[in-house]
Amino acid sequence: MLMRIGGTETASLDEVWIEVKNPATGELIDRVPAGRNEDAALAVDAAEAASGSWKKKTMRERGMILFRAAEKVREQHKDLARLLTMEQGKPLHESIDEVRGYANILEFYAGISAHQSGEFIRLGSSGDGLVVREPLGVCGAIIPWNMPVLIMGWKVGPVLLAGNTLVLKPASTTPLTNIRLAKILDESGLPPGVLNVITGRGEEAGEGLVRHPGLRKISFTGSCATGMKIRELASHHLKEVTLELGGSDPMIVLNDADVDRAVEGAVRGRFYNAGQTCTAVKRLYVQEAIAEVFIRKLKERTSTLNVGNGLGPKTDMGPLNSSGQRDLISRAVEDLRENDHGTIITGGCALKGKAYEQGWFYRPTLVTDIVPGSPLVTEEIFGPVLPVMTVPNLETAIREANNSRFGLGASVWTSNMHSARKAFDEIHAGIVWVNRHLTIPPEIPFGGVEGSGIGRENGQDALDSYSRTKSLVMGW
Ligand code: NAD
Repeated sequence: MLMRIGGTETASLDEVWIEVKNPATGELIDRVPAGRNEDAALAVDAAEAASGSWKKKTMRERGMILFRAAEKVREQHKDLARLLTMEQGKPLHESIDEVRGYANILEFYAGISAHQSGEFIRLGSSGDGLVVREPLGVCGAIIPWNMPVLIMGWKVGPVLLAGNTLVLKPASTTPLTNIRLAKILDESGLPPGVLNVITGRGEEAGEGLVRHPGLRKISFTGSCATGMKIRELASHHLKEVTLELGGSDPMIVLNDADVDRAVEGAVRGRFYNAGQTCTAVKRLYVQEAIAEVFIRKLKERTSTLNVGNGLGPKTDMGPLNSSGQRDLISRAVEDLRENDHGTIITGGCALKGKAYEQGWFYRPTLVTDIVPGSPLVTEEIFGPVLPVMTVPNLETAIREANNSRFGLGASVWTSNMHSARKAFDEIHAGIVWVNRHLTIPPEIPFGGVEGSGIGRENGQDALDSYSRTKSLVMGW
């Protein structure tokens, strides 16, 4: 597939390609241009050229295009989901969820387009004041491979509705569904150049985009290390940033929780998308009185998970997205073993056998008896490995939950509303769930605190973050 610049399909200037392979089979699915600096510049130019007429459209006109695109995405959701599974690895039912989630986001922003207004302020003898919102101009979005479709929606919906134009750079292992979705937006009436997609490696196409002086804002989702670099680069031209970075979400299960429900929550929370979710449950704290039964049930349920090709009808968990990702997980577990940092009670190795030879499969893994300070708890583990710790009470659980440089999400599982309220008030995180984990509807602002980022996706917050106020004072 080719990049999309100015509404047309384009190869990179020097015709170098990146292969996109199926992580379950190693098969080549397609190739995309390895875009560079110059390609990023062409895309920003195209976005700049489209900017003037796009911002003159009304919010409602822009919203209608998003709405039409959502309709087309729903019509094509099976094909899109299949393509997503082939490039990313996740089970087909998860890809279908994700594609529908993308359509939900576009519809949400189309829906709120009718409710946007400015402010009129009477200033007495000074006259009258008018405050309106105007778009920032050309924005850039750089996204990762774990949820490429959903995260594209988080950027595209508010950026375009606010009247900006956009250059999107997908991750190099998962560009295909993003390009198809951009084409659907173009076919839904988006004028050429309003949304451009450049493919390529982060250090080349990505950095080229962030450095470009024509960009007014960069919205990045990915690792903390890259996020910090992007913030530094963006500061050179005082570009605005949204940074959605890594997380190490705690899940706290109290004695009065519904144990079976919490077990399901932990399994889904950790092993959904093979553990490659920013808000996955990455540390589990269970209160002592129910720990034994909870851990036994969690182990039983985890060992029933069917790991395989995401296109298989019975697959619960697919492969990791790349060999590099699987190596990271294998190394983290090997280090744990070598340093005697915990007890692996299930999993703890790659899957073996003919069906798994060509793919990046890893067993769902549970670890107990974790030594304090183990990297399995202090670092973000982006794969299917769950450390389970016991705690005497909620206070200790909250203290442990907050003992992290991250602050993305957290959940508490309890039937006591005072405990739930205390956890909500005291845990450092952008979102706290009670008796669930992972759910992020488009209405709910989402983002991190502390090391997990700056800014919010979703909701009115995201829309406002892609525009600025402009004020008028009228003397009579
Ligand atoms: P990554 O930082 O390696 O890559 C993300 C994107 O940045 C890719 O498109 C990549 O090509 C690009 N990139 C890499 N180096 C770059 C550079 N120097 N300049 C510009 N662009 C560059 O992250 P990843 O490993 O792909 O993603 C996993 C991480 O993303 C995890 O830490 C996860 O928690 C985080 N994440 C966060 C959220 C959130 O909303 N907070 C959502 C999903 C994933």
